[in-house]
Amino acid sequence: MRNLILVLGDQLDPSSSAFDNADQEQDSVWMAEVDEENTYIPAHKQRILFFLSAMRHFRIELENDGWTVHYHKLSSNPSHDRGSSFVEVLDRDMNRFSPERLIMTEPGDYRVEQAISNYAKKNNIELEIRADRHFYCSRREFSEYAKGRKSLMLEYFYRELRKRHQILMEDGKTPIGGSWNFDHDNRESFSSDGPPSKIRPMSFQRDTITEEVSILIESRFRDHPGTLDSFVLPVTRGDAQRMLSHFVRDLLPLFGTYEDAMWSDEPFLYHSRLSALLNVKLLSPQECVNAAVEAYQSGDAPLNSVEGFVRQILGWREFVRGVYWHHMPDYAEMNHLKQTESLPSFFWTGETEMNCVRNSMQHVLQHGYAHHIHRLMVLGNIALSYGADPKEFHDWHMSMYVDAIDWVSLPNTLGMSQFGDGGIVGTKPYCSTGNYINKMSNFCSDCRYYYKEKSGENACPITTFYWDFLDRNYDQLKDNRRMTFPIKNIDNLRDKKEEHADMKLRAHELREQWKS
Ligand code: FAD
Ligand code: SF4
Repeated sequence: MRNLILVLGDQLDPSSSAFDNADQEQDSVWMAEVDEENTYIPAHKQRILFFLSAMRHFRIELENDGWTVHYHKLSSNPSHDRGSSFVEVLDRDMNRFSPERLIMTEPGDYRVEQAISNYAKKNNIELEIRADRHFYCSRREFSEYAKGRKSLMLEYFYRELRKRHQILMEDGKTPIGGSWNFDHDNRESFSSDGPPSKIRPMSFQRDTITEEVSILIESRFRDHPGTLDSFVLPVTRGDAQRMLSHFVRDLLPLFGTYEDAMWSDEPFLYHSRLSALLNVKLLSPQECVNAAVEAYQSGDAPLNSVEGFVRQILGWREFVRGVYWHHMPDYAEMNHLKQTESLPSFFWTGETEMNCVRNSMQHVLQHGYAHHIHRLMVLGNIALSYGADPKEFHDWHMSMYVDAIDWVSLPNTLGMSQFGDGGIVGTKPYCSTGNYINKMSNFCSDCRYYYKEKSGENACPITTFYWDFLDRNYDQLKDNRRMTFPIKNIDNLRDKKEEHADMKLRAHELREQWKS
Protein backbone atom coordinates (compact mmCIF):
# COMPACT_ATOMS: atom_id res chain seq x y z
CA MET A 1 0.00 0.00 0.00
CA ARG A 2 1.25 3.48 -0.87
CA ASN A 3 -0.90 5.84 1.23
CA LEU A 4 -3.38 5.17 4.00
CA ILE A 5 -5.85 8.07 3.99
CA LEU A 6 -7.23 8.73 7.47
CA VAL A 7 -10.78 10.09 7.56
CA LEU A 8 -12.13 11.26 10.92
CA GLY A 9 -15.80 11.50 11.89
CA ASP A 10 -15.92 15.24 11.13
CA GLN A 11 -14.26 14.89 7.71
CA LEU A 12 -17.01 13.34 5.60
CA ASP A 13 -16.14 15.07 2.34
CA PRO A 14 -14.78 13.08 -0.63
CA SER A 15 -13.33 16.26 -2.13
CA SER A 16 -11.26 17.10 0.94
CA SER A 17 -7.52 17.66 0.57
CA ALA A 18 -6.71 14.18 1.93
CA PHE A 19 -7.97 12.76 -1.37
CA ASP A 20 -5.87 15.04 -3.61
CA ASN A 21 -3.84 12.92 -6.07
CA ALA A 22 -5.12 9.75 -4.43
CA ASP A 23 -5.12 6.56 -6.46
CA GLN A 24 -7.66 3.81 -5.78
CA GLU A 25 -5.17 1.19 -7.00
CA GLN A 26 -2.44 2.11 -4.54
CA ASP A 27 -4.15 3.92 -1.68
CA SER A 28 -6.84 2.95 0.84
CA VAL A 29 -9.08 4.81 3.24
CA TRP A 30 -9.10 4.20 6.99
CA MET A 31 -11.98 5.09 9.31
CA ALA A 32 -12.62 4.08 12.90
CA GLU A 33 -15.38 4.43 15.44
CA VAL A 34 -13.55 4.64 18.75
CA ASP A 35 -14.75 4.45 22.30
CA GLU A 36 -12.59 7.30 23.56
CA GLU A 37 -14.31 9.89 21.35
CA ASN A 38 -17.68 9.03 22.90
CA THR A 39 -16.62 8.53 26.47
CA TYR A 40 -13.73 10.90 27.28
CA ILE A 41 -16.68 13.12 28.13
CA PRO A 42 -19.91 11.02 28.12
CA ALA A 43 -21.50 12.06 24.83
CA HIS A 44 -25.24 12.72 24.34
CA LYS A 45 -26.84 9.70 22.66
CA GLN A 46 -27.88 11.75 19.62
CA ARG A 47 -24.33 13.02 19.20
CA ILE A 48 -23.06 9.43 19.01
CA LEU A 49 -25.90 8.42 16.69
CA PHE A 50 -25.32 11.32 14.33
CA PHE A 51 -21.56 10.77 14.05
CA LEU A 52 -21.61 6.99 13.72
CA SER A 53 -24.52 6.87 11.30
CA ALA A 54 -23.04 9.63 9.12
CA MET A 55 -19.66 7.84 9.13
CA ARG A 56 -21.21 4.51 8.13
CA HIS A 57 -23.14 6.16 5.29
CA PHE A 58 -19.99 7.93 4.13
CA ARG A 59 -18.09 4.66 4.10
CA ILE A 60 -20.70 3.21 1.73
CA GLU A 61 -20.49 6.30 -0.48
CA LEU A 62 -16.71 5.88 -0.74
CA GLU A 63 -16.99 2.15 -1.47
CA ASN A 64 -19.59 2.81 -4.17
CA ASP A 65 -17.07 5.24 -5.61
CA GLY A 66 -14.49 2.47 -5.87
CA TRP A 67 -12.48 3.01 -2.70
CA THR A 68 -11.21 0.30 -0.41
CA VAL A 69 -12.20 1.41 3.08
CA HIS A 70 -10.77 -0.22 6.20
CA TYR A 71 -13.53 0.60 8.65
CA HIS A 72 -13.70 -0.26 12.35
CA LYS A 73 -17.17 -0.48 13.85
CA LEU A 74 -17.69 -0.24 17.58
CA SER A 75 -18.96 -3.53 18.87
CA SER A 76 -21.81 -3.90 21.35
CA ASN A 77 -19.23 -5.68 23.52
CA PRO A 78 -16.32 -3.28 24.27
CA SER A 79 -13.89 -6.17 24.75
CA HIS A 80 -14.26 -6.93 21.01
CA ASP A 81 -12.96 -3.48 19.99
CA ARG A 82 -9.48 -3.35 18.50
CA GLY A 83 -8.50 -0.48 20.83
CA SER A 84 -10.13 2.41 22.58
CA SER A 85 -8.43 5.39 20.90
CA PHE A 86 -7.60 6.30 17.28
CA VAL A 87 -3.96 5.67 17.92
CA GLU A 88 -4.49 2.21 19.46
CA VAL A 89 -6.70 1.05 16.59
CA LEU A 90 -4.45 2.62 13.99
CA ASP A 91 -1.35 1.05 15.48
CA ARG A 92 -2.71 -2.45 14.92
CA ASP A 93 -3.53 -1.63 11.31
CA MET A 94 -0.11 -0.18 10.68
CA ASN A 95 1.32 -3.59 11.38
CA ARG A 96 -1.23 -5.17 9.04
CA PHE A 97 -0.93 -2.77 6.08
CA SER A 98 2.52 -1.17 6.42
CA PRO A 99 1.65 1.85 4.25
CA GLU A 100 4.45 4.09 3.02
CA ARG A 101 2.67 7.16 4.34
CA LEU A 102 -0.34 8.37 6.32
CA ILE A 103 -2.32 11.24 4.84
CA MET A 104 -5.07 13.26 6.45
CA THR A 105 -6.77 16.65 6.40
CA GLU A 106 -6.25 18.86 9.46
CA PRO A 107 -8.37 17.52 12.35
CA GLY A 108 -10.85 19.74 14.17
CA ASP A 109 -9.48 18.95 17.60
CA TYR A 110 -6.03 19.89 18.86
CA ARG A 111 -6.00 16.81 21.14
CA VAL A 112 -6.56 14.43 18.20
CA GLU A 113 -4.00 16.17 15.99
CA GLN A 114 -1.41 15.92 18.75
CA ALA A 115 -2.17 12.25 19.43
CA ILE A 116 -1.81 11.23 15.78
CA SER A 117 1.27 13.42 15.17
CA ASN A 118 3.01 12.14 18.30
CA TYR A 119 2.22 8.57 17.37
CA ALA A 120 3.68 9.02 13.89
CA LYS A 121 6.79 10.77 15.22
CA LYS A 122 7.40 8.15 17.87
CA ASN A 123 7.11 5.32 15.37
CA ASN A 124 8.98 7.04 12.57
CA ILE A 125 5.97 6.99 10.28
CA GLU A 126 5.62 9.57 7.53
CA LEU A 127 2.47 11.61 8.21
CA GLU A 128 1.21 14.33 5.88
CA ILE A 129 -1.43 16.66 7.37
CA ARG A 130 -2.99 18.77 4.64
CA ALA A 131 -4.72 22.14 4.98
CA ASP A 132 -8.50 22.00 5.30
CA ARG A 133 -10.10 23.63 2.25
CA HIS A 134 -13.56 23.46 3.80
CA PHE A 135 -13.09 26.87 5.39
CA TYR A 136 -12.94 30.30 3.74
CA CYS A 137 -9.89 31.19 5.82
CA SER A 138 -7.04 28.76 6.37
CA ARG A 139 -5.23 28.46 9.69
CA ARG A 140 -2.16 30.11 8.13
CA GLU A 141 -4.17 33.00 6.68
CA PHE A 142 -5.76 33.65 10.08
CA SER A 143 -2.40 33.64 11.84
CA GLU A 144 -1.08 36.15 9.31
CA TYR A 145 -4.19 38.27 9.85
CA ALA A 146 -3.76 38.11 13.64
CA LYS A 147 -0.02 38.87 13.59
CA GLY A 148 0.72 42.32 14.97
CA ARG A 149 -2.90 43.08 15.92
CA LYS A 150 -3.42 44.05 19.54
CA SER A 151 -6.92 42.64 19.58
CA LEU A 152 -9.01 40.60 17.17
CA MET A 153 -12.41 41.96 16.32
CA LEU A 154 -15.02 39.81 14.57
CA GLU A 155 -16.42 42.85 12.78
CA TYR A 156 -13.20 43.79 10.93
CA PHE A 157 -12.32 40.17 10.16
CA TYR A 158 -15.81 39.63 8.74
CA ARG A 159 -15.63 42.75 6.56
CA GLU A 160 -12.28 41.65 5.20
CA LEU A 161 -13.69 38.23 4.23
CA ARG A 162 -16.76 39.85 2.64
CA LYS A 163 -14.45 41.95 0.48
CA ARG A 164 -11.99 39.15 -0.28
CA HIS A 165 -14.73 36.79 -1.42
CA GLN A 166 -17.02 39.49 -2.84
CA ILE A 167 -20.04 38.36 -0.86
CA LEU A 168 -22.98 40.77 -0.69
CA MET A 169 -20.78 43.52 -2.17
CA GLU A 170 -21.33 46.07 -4.90
CA ASP A 171 -18.62 47.96 -6.81
CA GLY A 172 -16.04 45.69 -5.24
CA LYS A 173 -15.87 47.53 -1.90
CA THR A 174 -19.30 48.76 -0.78
CA PRO A 175 -21.58 46.42 1.17
CA ILE A 176 -24.92 45.82 -0.53
CA GLY A 177 -27.61 47.91 1.16
CA GLY A 178 -24.98 50.44 2.30
CA SER A 179 -24.39 48.83 5.68
CA TRP A 180 -22.22 45.98 6.98
CA ASN A 181 -24.95 44.80 9.32
CA PHE A 182 -28.67 45.10 9.84
CA ASP A 183 -28.87 44.39 13.54
CA HIS A 184 -31.42 47.18 14.01
CA ASP A 185 -33.89 45.11 11.92
CA ASN A 186 -33.05 41.88 13.74
CA ARG A 187 -33.34 40.87 17.39
CA GLU A 188 -37.14 41.22 17.47
CA SER A 189 -39.17 39.26 19.97
CA PHE A 190 -42.56 37.69 19.23
CA SER A 191 -45.89 39.23 20.12
CA SER A 192 -47.98 37.40 22.75
CA ASP A 193 -49.29 35.18 19.89
CA GLY A 194 -45.83 33.66 19.42
CA PRO A 195 -44.11 32.93 16.09
CA PRO A 196 -46.01 34.57 13.20
CA SER A 197 -45.97 31.53 10.93
CA LYS A 198 -46.38 27.84 11.61
CA ILE A 199 -42.97 26.20 11.69
CA ARG A 200 -42.78 22.57 10.62
CA PRO A 201 -39.25 21.39 11.34
CA MET A 202 -37.96 19.13 8.59
CA SER A 203 -37.26 15.60 9.74
CA PHE A 204 -35.69 12.54 8.14
CA GLN A 205 -36.72 8.91 8.45
CA ARG A 206 -34.20 6.60 10.07
CA ASP A 207 -32.89 3.92 7.72
CA THR A 208 -31.50 0.52 8.68
CA ILE A 209 -28.02 1.89 9.31
CA THR A 210 -29.30 4.51 11.73
CA GLU A 211 -31.48 1.87 13.42
CA GLU A 212 -28.49 -0.44 13.77
CA VAL A 213 -26.47 2.33 15.44
CA SER A 214 -29.42 3.17 17.75
CA ILE A 215 -29.44 -0.42 18.99
CA LEU A 216 -25.69 -0.26 19.61
CA ILE A 217 -26.08 2.96 21.59
CA GLU A 218 -28.93 1.64 23.72
CA SER A 219 -26.83 -1.36 24.66
CA ARG A 220 -23.37 0.19 24.98
CA PHE A 221 -24.03 3.81 25.94
CA ARG A 222 -27.41 3.50 27.64
CA ASP A 223 -26.34 5.62 30.64
CA HIS A 224 -25.29 8.56 28.49
CA PRO A 225 -27.35 11.75 28.56
CA GLY A 226 -30.21 12.47 26.19
CA THR A 227 -32.71 10.37 24.30
CA LEU A 228 -32.70 8.90 20.81
CA ASP A 229 -36.48 9.12 20.26
CA SER A 230 -36.46 12.55 18.70
CA PHE A 231 -33.47 12.06 16.38
CA VAL A 232 -34.44 13.42 12.96
CA LEU A 233 -31.22 14.85 11.50
CA PRO A 234 -29.90 14.02 8.02
CA VAL A 235 -26.91 11.68 7.93
CA THR A 236 -26.12 11.77 4.19
CA ARG A 237 -25.02 14.53 1.87
CA GLY A 238 -28.22 14.30 -0.19
CA ASP A 239 -30.44 14.78 2.85
CA ALA A 240 -28.17 17.56 4.15
CA GLN A 241 -28.68 19.40 0.85
CA ARG A 242 -32.46 18.95 1.23
CA MET A 243 -32.24 20.44 4.72
CA LEU A 244 -30.36 23.45 3.34
CA SER A 245 -32.98 23.99 0.62
CA HIS A 246 -35.77 23.75 3.21
CA PHE A 247 -34.05 26.36 5.38
CA VAL A 248 -33.50 28.80 2.52
CA ARG A 249 -37.04 28.42 1.18
CA ASP A 250 -39.09 28.21 4.39
CA LEU A 251 -37.12 29.74 7.25
CA LEU A 252 -34.53 32.20 5.96
CA PRO A 253 -37.05 34.99 5.25
CA LEU A 254 -37.75 35.35 9.00
CA PHE A 255 -34.35 34.12 10.27
CA GLY A 256 -32.84 37.57 10.81
CA THR A 257 -35.83 39.26 12.39
CA TYR A 258 -36.31 36.53 15.02
CA GLU A 259 -32.69 35.35 15.34
CA ASP A 260 -32.60 36.15 19.07
CA ALA A 261 -36.21 35.28 19.99
CA MET A 262 -37.18 32.31 22.18
CA TRP A 263 -40.53 30.64 22.72
CA SER A 264 -41.75 27.78 24.92
CA ASP A 265 -41.51 24.32 23.34
CA GLU A 266 -40.12 25.75 20.09
CA PRO A 267 -36.50 24.65 20.00
CA PHE A 268 -35.76 25.50 16.37
CA LEU A 269 -37.94 28.48 15.33
CA TYR A 270 -36.36 29.99 12.15
CA HIS A 271 -32.87 28.64 12.83
CA SER A 272 -31.24 26.47 10.20
CA ARG A 273 -30.05 23.46 12.26
CA LEU A 274 -27.18 23.23 9.76
CA SER A 275 -24.31 23.44 12.29
CA ALA A 276 -23.81 19.70 12.78
CA LEU A 277 -24.03 19.09 9.01
CA LEU A 278 -21.46 21.80 8.34
CA ASN A 279 -19.18 20.59 11.12
CA VAL A 280 -18.91 17.03 9.78
CA LYS A 281 -18.66 18.50 6.26
CA LEU A 282 -21.79 17.04 4.74
CA LEU A 283 -22.28 20.67 3.70
CA SER A 284 -19.75 23.33 2.83
CA PRO A 285 -19.95 26.87 4.19
CA GLN A 286 -19.63 28.19 0.64
CA GLU A 287 -22.75 26.40 -0.57
CA CYS A 288 -24.74 27.61 2.46
CA VAL A 289 -23.63 31.21 2.00
CA ASN A 290 -24.19 31.07 -1.78
CA ALA A 291 -27.69 29.61 -1.35
CA ALA A 292 -28.65 32.44 1.02
CA VAL A 293 -27.17 35.13 -1.24
CA GLU A 294 -29.06 33.69 -4.23
CA ALA A 295 -32.29 33.86 -2.23
CA TYR A 296 -31.62 37.55 -1.69
CA GLN A 297 -30.79 38.14 -5.35
CA SER A 298 -33.98 36.43 -6.50
CA GLY A 299 -36.07 38.43 -4.02
CA ASP A 300 -36.97 35.38 -1.92
CA ALA A 301 -35.33 36.56 1.32
CA PRO A 302 -34.70 40.04 2.73
CA LEU A 303 -31.24 41.49 3.21
CA ASN A 304 -31.40 41.63 7.03
CA SER A 305 -31.92 37.85 7.17
CA VAL A 306 -29.39 36.99 4.50
CA GLU A 307 -26.67 39.25 5.93
CA GLY A 308 -27.42 37.88 9.42
CA PHE A 309 -26.96 34.30 8.19
CA VAL A 310 -23.83 35.14 6.17
CA ARG A 311 -22.34 36.89 9.24
CA GLN A 312 -22.81 33.70 11.31
CA ILE A 313 -21.10 31.46 8.79
CA LEU A 314 -18.56 33.68 7.02
CA GLY A 315 -17.97 35.76 10.15
CA TRP A 316 -18.38 33.93 13.45
CA ARG A 317 -17.71 30.40 12.26
CA GLU A 318 -14.46 31.32 10.51
CA PHE A 319 -13.43 33.71 13.30
CA VAL A 320 -13.74 31.21 16.14
CA ARG A 321 -11.84 28.58 14.16
CA GLY A 322 -9.03 31.06 13.59
CA VAL A 323 -8.95 32.00 17.27
CA TYR A 324 -8.89 28.33 18.30
CA TRP A 325 -5.88 27.33 16.23
CA HIS A 326 -4.07 30.60 16.81
CA HIS A 327 -4.26 30.27 20.60
CA MET A 328 -4.18 26.53 21.25
CA PRO A 329 -3.09 24.79 23.42
CA ASP A 330 -2.98 27.63 26.02
CA TYR A 331 -6.51 28.71 25.17
CA ALA A 332 -8.11 25.64 26.77
CA GLU A 333 -6.56 26.50 30.15
CA MET A 334 -7.60 30.16 30.27
CA ASN A 335 -9.76 31.24 33.21
CA HIS A 336 -9.62 35.03 33.23
CA LEU A 337 -12.19 35.47 36.00
CA LYS A 338 -10.79 32.56 38.04
CA GLN A 339 -14.21 30.95 38.37
CA THR A 340 -14.19 27.46 39.85
CA GLU A 341 -17.74 26.29 40.71
CA SER A 342 -19.00 22.95 39.42
CA LEU A 343 -22.08 23.09 37.21
CA PRO A 344 -25.32 22.59 39.17
CA SER A 345 -27.07 19.26 38.61
CA PHE A 346 -29.83 20.80 36.44
CA PHE A 347 -27.25 21.05 33.66
CA TRP A 348 -27.56 17.27 33.40
CA THR A 349 -31.16 16.62 34.42
CA GLY A 350 -33.02 19.79 33.36
CA GLU A 351 -34.81 19.68 36.71
CA THR A 352 -35.20 23.23 37.93
CA GLU A 353 -37.99 25.68 38.62
CA MET A 354 -36.35 28.30 36.40
CA ASN A 355 -38.65 28.13 33.40
CA CYS A 356 -36.10 29.50 30.92
CA VAL A 357 -33.41 27.04 32.02
CA ARG A 358 -35.86 24.12 32.08
CA ASN A 359 -37.01 24.90 28.53
CA SER A 360 -33.46 25.27 27.24
CA MET A 361 -32.41 22.02 28.91
CA GLN A 362 -35.41 20.20 27.41
CA HIS A 363 -34.15 21.21 23.97
CA VAL A 364 -30.68 19.99 24.82
CA LEU A 365 -31.80 16.67 26.28
CA GLN A 366 -34.36 15.95 23.55
CA HIS A 367 -32.38 17.13 20.54
CA GLY A 368 -28.73 17.69 21.50
CA TYR A 369 -29.49 21.20 20.32
CA ALA A 370 -30.50 24.61 21.56
CA HIS A 371 -30.32 27.73 19.46
CA HIS A 372 -27.74 30.42 20.00
CA ILE A 373 -29.63 32.57 22.50
CA HIS A 374 -30.54 29.60 24.69
CA ARG A 375 -26.83 28.70 24.71
CA LEU A 376 -25.53 32.21 25.31
CA MET A 377 -28.18 34.12 27.24
CA VAL A 378 -29.84 31.36 29.26
CA LEU A 379 -27.50 28.43 29.94
CA GLY A 380 -24.23 30.30 29.40
CA ASN A 381 -25.55 33.31 31.30
CA ILE A 382 -26.47 31.36 34.42
CA ALA A 383 -23.22 29.32 34.33
CA LEU A 384 -21.17 32.54 34.05
CA SER A 385 -22.97 34.52 36.69
CA TYR A 386 -23.08 31.54 39.09
CA GLY A 387 -19.29 31.28 38.72
CA ALA A 388 -18.87 27.98 36.86
CA ASP A 389 -15.43 26.81 35.83
CA PRO A 390 -15.26 27.74 32.11
CA LYS A 391 -13.46 24.52 31.15
CA GLU A 392 -16.15 22.47 32.89
CA PHE A 393 -18.82 24.41 31.00
CA HIS A 394 -16.97 23.60 27.78
CA ASP A 395 -16.73 19.89 28.66
CA TRP A 396 -20.45 19.87 29.43
CA HIS A 397 -21.15 21.48 26.06
CA MET A 398 -18.94 18.98 24.21
CA SER A 399 -20.92 16.23 25.83
CA MET A 400 -24.43 17.55 25.21
CA TYR A 401 -24.60 19.09 21.72
CA VAL A 402 -24.65 17.21 18.44
CA ASP A 403 -22.72 20.01 16.72
CA ALA A 404 -19.93 20.25 19.30
CA ILE A 405 -16.41 19.90 17.94
CA ASP A 406 -13.51 21.31 19.88
CA TRP A 407 -12.48 24.07 17.42
CA VAL A 408 -15.96 25.60 17.45
CA SER A 409 -17.16 24.75 20.93
CA LEU A 410 -14.15 25.94 22.94
CA PRO A 411 -14.01 29.59 21.72
CA ASN A 412 -17.79 29.83 22.01
CA THR A 413 -18.04 28.32 25.50
CA LEU A 414 -14.86 29.22 27.33
CA GLY A 415 -14.42 32.40 25.28
CA MET A 416 -17.60 34.10 24.14
CA SER A 417 -19.91 32.72 26.79
CA GLN A 418 -17.75 32.45 29.93
CA PHE A 419 -15.23 35.26 29.22
CA GLY A 420 -12.51 32.80 30.24
CA ASP A 421 -10.23 34.23 27.53
CA GLY A 422 -10.57 37.73 28.99
CA GLY A 423 -11.90 39.25 25.78
CA ILE A 424 -10.28 37.51 22.80
CA VAL A 425 -13.57 36.38 21.22
CA GLY A 426 -16.02 38.86 22.75
CA THR A 427 -15.21 42.25 24.18
CA LYS A 428 -17.33 41.87 27.32
CA PRO A 429 -18.99 39.10 29.35
CA TYR A 430 -22.43 38.08 28.06
CA CYS A 431 -24.51 38.36 31.19
CA SER A 432 -27.88 39.91 31.83
CA THR A 433 -30.72 40.00 34.31
CA GLY A 434 -34.03 38.18 33.77
CA ASN A 435 -35.17 41.37 32.09
CA TYR A 436 -33.49 40.34 28.83
CA ILE A 437 -35.08 36.87 28.94
CA ASN A 438 -38.47 38.40 29.67
CA LYS A 439 -38.08 40.66 26.64
CA MET A 440 -37.00 37.92 24.25
CA SER A 441 -39.34 35.07 25.30
CA ASN A 442 -42.55 34.06 27.00
CA PHE A 443 -40.74 32.14 29.76
CA CYS A 444 -41.07 34.61 32.61
CA SER A 445 -44.88 34.81 32.56
CA ASP A 446 -45.04 31.10 33.44
CA CYS A 447 -42.22 31.03 35.93
CA ARG A 448 -42.41 30.63 39.69
CA TYR A 449 -39.76 33.38 40.02
CA TYR A 450 -40.12 37.06 39.27
CA TYR A 451 -37.60 38.39 36.79
CA LYS A 452 -37.36 41.85 38.36
CA GLU A 453 -36.55 40.66 41.88
CA LYS A 454 -32.96 40.15 42.98
CA SER A 455 -33.59 39.17 46.59
CA GLY A 456 -36.09 37.17 48.57
CA GLU A 457 -37.74 33.79 47.96
CA ASN A 458 -39.26 34.75 44.63
CA ALA A 459 -36.18 36.42 43.25
CA CYS A 460 -35.20 35.33 39.76
CA PRO A 461 -31.88 33.46 40.09
CA ILE A 462 -30.72 34.87 36.74
CA THR A 463 -31.20 38.36 38.16
CA THR A 464 -29.72 37.62 41.58
CA PHE A 465 -26.59 36.07 40.13
CA TYR A 466 -26.22 38.86 37.57
CA TRP A 467 -25.74 41.37 40.40
CA ASP A 468 -23.63 38.96 42.40
CA PHE A 469 -21.42 38.38 39.33
CA LEU A 470 -20.77 42.11 38.88
CA ASP A 471 -20.10 42.45 42.59
CA ARG A 472 -17.69 39.49 42.72
CA ASN A 473 -15.79 40.47 39.56
CA TYR A 474 -15.87 44.22 40.08
CA ASP A 475 -12.10 44.73 39.92
CA GLN A 476 -11.71 42.62 36.76
CA LEU A 477 -14.53 44.43 34.94
CA LYS A 478 -14.43 48.04 36.12
CA ASP A 479 -12.00 49.24 33.43
CA ASN A 480 -13.80 47.51 30.55
CA ARG A 481 -15.35 50.36 28.53
CA ARG A 482 -18.26 48.18 27.43
CA MET A 483 -19.11 47.53 31.07
CA THR A 484 -19.40 51.19 32.08
CA PHE A 485 -23.18 51.06 32.47
CA PRO A 486 -23.40 47.81 34.50
CA ILE A 487 -20.51 48.98 36.69
CA LYS A 488 -22.36 52.23 37.40
CA ASN A 489 -25.42 50.18 38.37
CA ILE A 490 -23.53 47.93 40.76
CA ASP A 491 -21.92 51.03 42.28
CA ASN A 492 -25.43 52.35 42.94
CA LEU A 493 -26.51 49.03 44.43
CA ARG A 494 -23.46 48.91 46.70
CA ASP A 495 -24.48 52.34 47.99
CA LYS A 496 -27.87 50.93 49.02
CA LYS A 497 -26.36 48.78 51.74
CA GLU A 498 -29.48 46.86 52.79
CA GLU A 499 -30.56 46.06 49.23
CA HIS A 500 -27.03 44.94 48.39
CA ALA A 501 -26.85 42.71 51.49
CA ASP A 502 -30.22 41.12 50.65
CA MET A 503 -29.01 40.29 47.14
CA LYS A 504 -25.79 38.76 48.50
CA LEU A 505 -27.78 36.72 51.02
CA ARG A 506 -30.06 35.35 48.28
CA ALA A 507 -27.06 34.50 46.10
CA HIS A 508 -25.50 32.68 49.03
CA GLU A 509 -28.73 30.70 49.73
CA LEU A 510 -29.06 29.67 46.08
CA ARG A 511 -25.41 28.69 45.90
CA GLU A 512 -25.81 26.44 48.92
CA GLN A 513 -28.95 24.84 47.41
CA TRP A 514 -27.30 24.24 44.04
CA LYS A 515 -24.18 22.76 45.59
CA SER A 516 -26.08 20.20 47.64
P1 FAD B 1 -28.21 29.19 12.96
O1 FAD B 1 -28.68 30.13 13.97
O2 FAD B 1 -29.14 28.81 11.88
O3 FAD B 1 -26.88 29.83 12.32
C1 FAD B 1 -26.38 29.43 11.05
C2 FAD B 1 -25.00 28.83 11.16
O4 FAD B 1 -24.06 29.80 11.56
C3 FAD B 1 -24.86 27.71 12.17
O5 FAD B 1 -25.30 26.50 11.63
C4 FAD B 1 -23.37 27.73 12.45
O6 FAD B 1 -22.67 26.92 11.54
C5 FAD B 1 -22.98 29.18 12.23
N1 FAD B 1 -22.80 29.88 13.50
C6 FAD B 1 -23.66 30.71 14.11
N2 FAD B 1 -23.10 31.24 15.22
C7 FAD B 1 -21.87 30.71 15.32
C8 FAD B 1 -20.81 30.85 16.26
N3 FAD B 1 -20.91 31.65 17.32
N4 FAD B 1 -19.71 30.11 16.06
C9 FAD B 1 -19.59 29.29 15.00
N5 FAD B 1 -20.55 29.13 14.08
C10 FAD B 1 -21.67 29.84 14.23
N6 FAD B 1 -21.73 26.09 17.11
C11 FAD B 1 -21.29 24.90 16.69
O7 FAD B 1 -21.38 24.61 15.49
N7 FAD B 1 -20.75 24.00 17.54
C12 FAD B 1 -20.61 24.26 18.86
O8 FAD B 1 -20.10 23.44 19.61
C13 FAD B 1 -21.09 25.51 19.35
N8 FAD B 1 -21.01 25.81 20.67
C14 FAD B 1 -21.54 26.99 21.12
C15 FAD B 1 -21.51 27.24 22.50
C16 FAD B 1 -22.03 28.41 23.00
C17 FAD B 1 -22.00 28.67 24.46
C18 FAD B 1 -22.56 29.36 22.11
C19 FAD B 1 -23.09 30.64 22.63
C20 FAD B 1 -22.59 29.10 20.76
C21 FAD B 1 -22.09 27.93 20.24
N9 FAD B 1 -22.13 27.62 18.87
C22 FAD B 1 -21.65 26.42 18.42
C23 FAD B 1 -22.59 28.62 17.90
C24 FAD B 1 -24.11 28.59 17.60
O9 FAD B 1 -24.82 28.71 18.79
C25 FAD B 1 -24.51 27.33 16.86
O10 FAD B 1 -23.72 27.18 15.70
C26 FAD B 1 -25.96 27.40 16.41
O11 FAD B 1 -26.80 27.62 17.52
C27 FAD B 1 -26.35 26.12 15.70
O12 FAD B 1 -27.68 26.14 15.35
P2 FAD B 1 -28.16 26.44 13.88
O13 FAD B 1 -27.42 25.57 12.93
O14 FAD B 1 -29.64 26.35 13.88
O15 FAD B 1 -27.62 27.91 13.70
FE1 SF4 C 1 -35.89 32.62 33.83
FE2 SF4 C 1 -36.03 34.40 35.80
FE3 SF4 C 1 -37.72 34.55 33.77
FE4 SF4 C 1 -37.92 32.58 35.53
S1 SF4 C 1 -38.21 34.75 35.92
S2 SF4 C 1 -38.06 32.39 33.30
S3 SF4 C 1 -35.79 32.20 36.01
S4 SF4 C 1 -35.52 34.80 33.68
